[in-house]
Amino acid sequence: MRTGIGYDAHPLVPGRKLVLGGVHLPFDEGLDGWSDADVLTHAVIDALLGAAALGDIGSHFPSGEPQYKGISSLALLEEVKGKLAEKGWRVVNIDATVVAEKPRLREHIDAMREQLSRTLGIDKGQVSVKASSNNGLGAIGRGEGIAALAVAVIEGEL
Ligand SMILES: [Zn+2]
Repeated sequence: MRTGIGYDAHPLVPGRKLVLGGVHLPFDEGLDGWSDADVLTHAVIDALLGAAALGDIGSHFPSGEPQYKGISSLALLEEVKGKLAEKGWRVVNIDATVVAEKPRLREHIDAMREQLSRTLGIDKGQVSVKASSNNGLGAIGRGEGIAALAVAVIEGEL
């Protein structure tokens, strides 16, 4: 058994779609970034890569590469799942927290768990997503961006 941690943050800007855990949330701003900037999926990817000691998201999917421009981060997560499977790793569970002042996430949490678990080919009960806020503190607290943290446990026969 191995464990990994992931963290990510992206700024909120007008004129972008807001995608969290592969779910499109209706909101007047979206996260800025090279891919769809799905901060939750990025944190999950880093937690999985970290658990397997396979580097980080930037080393596998560099910003600036044309093939990753605007790509759904679920596609990146699926690739990472394959990289772990090649090494004999299976995902045991994921626990993630999204830190956002707005919009309200609660009604979308279940759909995020559904998307992430389906992409990883595991049960929804193995994927936890929680919503938190910075209670007004700092840039995240002012609603200038959204952050996410994730922990992953994987197992294999090494
Ligand atoms: Zn990111």
